[in-house]
Amino acid sequence: MAIERTLSILKPDALQWRAVGKILARLEEAGLKPVAMKMLQLSQKQAEGFYAVHRERPFFKSLVAYMSSGPVIVQVLEGENAVAKNREVMGATDPAKAAEGTIRKLFARSIEANSVHGSDSPENARTEIAYFFAQTELVAYDWTAKR
Ligand code: ADP
Ligand code: MG
Repeated sequence: MAIERTLSILKPDALQWRAVGKILARLEEAGLKPVAMKMLQLSQKQAEGFYAVHRERPFFKSLVAYMSSGPVIVQVLEGENAVAKNREVMGATDPAKAAEGTIRKLFARSIEANSVHGSDSPENARTEIAYFFAQTELVAYDWTAKR
């Protein structure tokens, strides 16, 4: 299976209710290796640009307001089948429909404030990574060390 990269975002609700550590632990335990990470306060324009594919949806305005309502953590995760793996660990968009044990089932508050974003295809992952990171901000390191 191919090593892929995917864009992950911890959304404002995850920071506001102190779920950051727990969410990062779940992603790490799933074998998704962080190779870039930063905390940002998105402007309305940045949030609109990121979610441009959804601009015709009825929830677009509200989504943009929510995503720029507080800081987020954006990160690049790397691993085998990383795009699908991340989506699996995240769970369905609507926490009410998300499988047991998924991040959204455990931590999301609503279909909008659903704690995490994950790219939905390798191609979109490349575009989304480039939206937030320069190539020089992606690092390489060994994470197989034993204590
Ligand atoms: P996903 O994040 O699971 O890929 P989508 O790409 O369909 O889901 O939607 C992007 C984001 O828009 C969702 O994560 C969620 O924050 C918000 N959203 C999706 N559907 C709705 C909805 N019906 N009402 C409000 N917000 C929504
Ligand atoms: Mg999506």
